Amino acid sequence: MSRLPEKKEKPASAKNPSTRQDDNGKDMAQIKVIREALIEKRAAIARQQATQLNELYNPDKHHLADLEEMASDTSDTDSLCAMVDLGSSTIEQIDTALQKLEDGTYGICEMCEEPIHPDRLEVLPFASLCVNCQRKKELNKELARADEES
Ligand SMILES: [Zn+2]
Repeated sequence: MSRLPEKKEKPASAKNPSTRQDDNGKDMAQIKVIREALIEKRAAIARQQATQLNELYNPDKHHLADLEEMASDTSDTDSLCAMVDLGSSTIEQIDTALQKLEDGTYGICEMCEEPIHPDRLEVLPFASLCVNCQRKKELNKELARADEES
């Protein structure tokens, strides 16, 4: 008689040698949620970029009169370019964040190596710096700019 009712499949968690979590306290479920959010965001930006590029390279949608109007307002194309650029750098940041998820370093500040506050990650899931370091970095940038100008 074979009765092994208890020995079915091992729960997935049994695979982990220990219930070790990284310092951030993120478990697999959380990581999965973050990853999906990042991938979704990435796709949304890519879609948006495609639309913007389309607009940029297919001006024939506009009537000639509109083009004349646009000529007086060249910043229109410029701002489109800027938006596409911004999208590209965001995609890069998201890719980096995805890589960090794989490496288990996600949510750790690149400068001080302290965990980034969860509130910040919620707003900016691909943040690579904690609020303090981000502030410092921006301050340094401004100082450098002021230096160049003087
Ligand atoms: Zn930091």
